[in-house]
This record gives sequence, structure tokens and C-alpha cells, in this order.
Amino acid sequence: MRLWPVPKSYTKNLPTSRTPGSFWENRGDRYHCGVDIYAPEDSDVISVEDGKVIDIGLFTSSLWIPYWNSTYYVLIKNSTGYICKYAELRDVNVHVGEQVNSGQLIGHVSQVLNSQNVTKESPSYIKKLLKKRKLSMLHFELHKAFPIQSKEYFGGNWYGSKKPRYLVNPVLYLLSIIRNSSQQSTLE
Ligand SMILES: [Zn+2]
Repeated sequence: MRLWPVPKSYTKNLPTSRTPGSFWENRGDRYHCGVDIYAPEDSDVISVEDGKVIDIGLFTSSLWIPYWNSTYYVLIKNSTGYICKYAELRDVNVHVGEQVNSGQLIGHVSQVLNSQNVTKESPSYIKKLLKKRKLSMLHFELHKAFPIQSKEYFGGNWYGSKKPRYLVNPVLYLLSIIRNSSQQSTLE
């Protein structure tokens, strides 16, 4: 059974094309590769499905962008085929090669933006997030195949105009969880 990746998310309503954090949101010079699921900092992030951890790494770092905190990502190849990327994690509770079960804790929600380092020159969607106080979230991506290393991919965004073939819009995938699940959103 698939489970919602952040049981304590504020809502299970996914961002739409008019709101920040939607899939393939046009951010001026880049496109958003996942959907953002907003939740309080330190909320548990669980594996949606049974699968195997195939990669873990640094997702954002203040060494790369001054207004970022250091966060991590986990890639899990589901036993049903798709690969889920769980990103903007504060910490990681699994290791590469580990078999995970649906519902298993894999990390915790972090806050990517270091608000003190956001300046007038920062991208407008970053300043918008800050204004809306939408700072802690899970960045969730869905892939058909192992994502190829590319200079066009950085921090969950794609800097080319052509969407990579392996990247899937995760909305239907996530909606299927809500439809099939009796999980309750605890903070709604
Ligand atoms: Zn995101």
C-alpha cells in the first residue's frame, strides 16, 4: 500500500500551477522538478512504498547558494518500478542498499531557506516563499529511471527548457494515495 510521505503535512492539497511549489512551475530561469509538500520542521518523512535505497546525497548547501541551509535527498526505487526522490531533508535515517518498507521513517523535514541570507537580489519566487512563511517542506520528485547527472539540474530545479524524459509529474501518483488511503491529515 502506498502511504502519504509526510503524515503531518499541513494539507494534502498539492500546489497548483498558480501557487509556488507545483510541478514544472516556471521560476523564470528554471523549472521546478517536483512538488513541495509543506509541513512543520522536523516532521517525519516516510517511504511511500516498499523499495530499496539507491542513493543519498547533499541536496542544498550554503556553500553553493548563500540563502540555503544544508539538506539531503534520498532516492528509493520502489518495488513497483518508479523511483521516488525525497529531498530537503534535515537528516537521513536509512542507508544506501537498505530495503525499506512502506511507512518506514527515512528522514525529517527541514527548512531550506536561511531567511537571513535572502537579499533583494534573490530570485523573486524565493522572496515570495519567505513572505508566505512557506519555508519547511518535503521536495518530492518521481522518476521513471535513475536521474542522469546533469548540469541543468540543481537544487530540485531544471535550468533547461526541455523536461528530462525520466522525470514524471508526481501529482497523479500522490493523488492515488489520498484516494486509496484512510490516513488523516493531522494538522488540517
Ligand atoms: Zn521543491
